[in-house]
Amino acid sequence: MQAKKPNQDVPVRYVRGVGPAKSRNFEKLGIMTVSDLFYYLPRRYEDRSRVISIKDAQLGQMQTVVGKVEKTSIFNAFTGTNIVEMIAGDGHKKIHSVWYNQPYMKKVFSPGQKVMLYGKVELQKHLQITHPAFEIIDDGKEQNSLNIGRIVPFYSLTEKVTQRYLRKSVDNAIHSYLNGVNDNLPTHIRARRKLVDIKFALENIHFPISFDTLEKAYRRVVFEEFFILQMIMAVRRKKVRGKGIKYDVQDVLLGNFQNLFNFEFTKDQEKCIKGIEKDMTSEKPMYRLLQGDVGSGKTVVAMYAALLAVKNGYQTAVMVPTEILARQHFVTISKVFMPLGINVRLLVSGMNPELKRIVNDEIKNGEADIVVGTHSLIQEKISFNKLGLAVIDEQHKFGVNQRKKLQSKGNMPDVLVMTATPIPRSLVLTVYGDMDVSVLKEKPGSRGTVTTYWVGENKRESVYEFLKDEISEGHQAFIVCPRIKNAVGKDLKSVEEMYVNLCENVFPKNKIALIHGRLKSEEKEKIMDAFRDKKYDILLATTVVEVGVDIPNVTVMLLENAEYYGLAQLHQLRGRIGRGKHQSYCILVGDPKTESSFERLSTLTETDDGFVIAEKDLDIRGPGEFLGTRQSGLPELRFGNIAKDFSIMEDAREEAFKIVNEDPFLKDSRNEGIKSLILERFKGKIMI
Ligand code: ADP
Ligand code: MG
Repeated sequence: MQAKKPNQDVPVRYVRGVGPAKSRNFEKLGIMTVSDLFYYLPRRYEDRSRVISIKDAQLGQMQTVVGKVEKTSIFNAFTGTNIVEMIAGDGHKKIHSVWYNQPYMKKVFSPGQKVMLYGKVELQKHLQITHPAFEIIDDGKEQNSLNIGRIVPFYSLTEKVTQRYLRKSVDNAIHSYLNGVNDNLPTHIRARRKLVDIKFALENIHFPISFDTLEKAYRRVVFEEFFILQMIMAVRRKKVRGKGIKYDVQDVLLGNFQNLFNFEFTKDQEKCIKGIEKDMTSEKPMYRLLQGDVGSGKTVVAMYAALLAVKNGYQTAVMVPTEILARQHFVTISKVFMPLGINVRLLVSGMNPELKRIVNDEIKNGEADIVVGTHSLIQEKISFNKLGLAVIDEQHKFGVNQRKKLQSKGNMPDVLVMTATPIPRSLVLTVYGDMDVSVLKEKPGSRGTVTTYWVGENKRESVYEFLKDEISEGHQAFIVCPRIKNAVGKDLKSVEEMYVNLCENVFPKNKIALIHGRLKSEEKEKIMDAFRDKKYDILLATTVVEVGVDIPNVTVMLLENAEYYGLAQLHQLRGRIGRGKHQSYCILVGDPKTESSFERLSTLTETDDGFVIAEKDLDIRGPGEFLGTRQSGLPELRFGNIAKDFSIMEDAREEAFKIVNEDPFLKDSRNEGIKSLILERFKGKIMI
């Protein structure tokens, strides 16, 4: 039978053996149509392809054997268990198959039938397989077996849909409908990327002839999925690159800017600055992701972009996730820019209302050139006079919508998002695929290195002695605990409990400050300032110090319950030290109870390279967790694995961007299929 309608319009009930009643079970699996069934991919495969005769069976191994049914019997064990036993032989040796409490199995076999059995071969009184997978074979049709004697697919199931039944249904669908599948991936792409035809791919992804064809089939299906994703990225990118602001830049600007600092920019910083300059002086809006490990010096890069905007009469908004960080950036930026007559303003919720009103006004009438703030910046009531540049720092702390909200405060403003949690390239292409990317790898200045130790509770005394030594040399220390107060049933350290003990028993001669998220922002600010001014030796803190805090005189970070944190967070926390020229130490006190927490702590002692850590983190947690539960913008991928199939993603991206570049409206007849490819997969639900 040849399908008349396209497969995505043929309800699955028309597949032979399915019908209206059973189709409801399929619907529970999300299979509505024939096309859905084709793309319902196996979860795993089992190699049952090596068929041997019973006499060659090896004990204890999963094996496929063939023989003839000799006898079937049914009886009850004294325990009441119903047992069906089928004996098959190959003329030399016999094997018993046994089913418990499946009396209907008695009727399945009749003597003389040829059967194939798969399972673990054991020696009871005789050779035996318990609950084998089986197939009754018509002579000469060994090749057609779906369940045995081949590489066998295993699917996720639901009630009333068994592996056997699903395999049979897929096979029926292949026989009736595969011919009606059109290959919508253009031939020129398929040829260039050496991809197999879609019919071959679909057939082999369910019933592979060999693992080699399975791989080819998988590659084709995943390529298609990634290609659609990258087409969407490419089109989106084209769209956001409409007509934006074209800034003018004078040759002396960069030199003058450099002179404002008492250090040389690193090569990476210069490269990023050049990239930004190129973006901003072009007519298309900048849409750039700046990745740089903690301490790599992203702030000055962003400041240059802001300066460019200001020089052209535009405002800049710098949005950061916490008040501490906002204040810190505000100080850094205004120190450099205020003397030049640039009006830098701070906007955070914990601010005096009168001042807030003034700042709001200045944002509105354009007097504020650069505004540093938290989420406060994207409130409804904030309106910019002429926003030309939106900078989002520590962008992983924000959702996609928050970024868009800030953008919408201007008319096609240039956008620079910065992240200190390096994102593996595979994820960048998946989630930020519509952006340009700059990376700061090189750490600036003559930084001391950070050595990381991981110790158990038994070393606590010597760790405290070590802290005292560092403090006596004029350095300072962070001690970080996961909790503010002790919680019942959780043996996590709290700052409040620690504080008393440290002040009274451990460091009676030193000054210790306490800071956590429940303090009012003025208090936090006061404490941070005092600590920065060296009025305290130790800052005992929760993870409020995680983001951005930059105090070069701190040389030790003692992390309590280090096993409690994720890898990215540990790396962030550690990034708070090693900011001066002194050798610094990160001491992890932790007692890992799971394999993954063990892996996290040992990774941290092994490397300081944020990108290596990020790859590892992606590996441990998977992309969803890695990006966090916020609207991460992670597309739902059904087939491909971002990390494992990265090279396929790269290929697909290259092709998609090439197509959108050369033929943005898909007018070329060779590219005709691409539209249906996109529409089919998203069932018309996607708007590009
Ligand atoms: P991050 O990338 O973590 O945001 P920052 O921008 O806060 O890093 O920079 C960290 C520290 O390094 C700051 O004190 C900054 O002044 C300093 N810094 C930045 N660039 C350089 C450089 N090229 N040479 C020396 N120090 C630098
Ligand atoms: Mg920063």
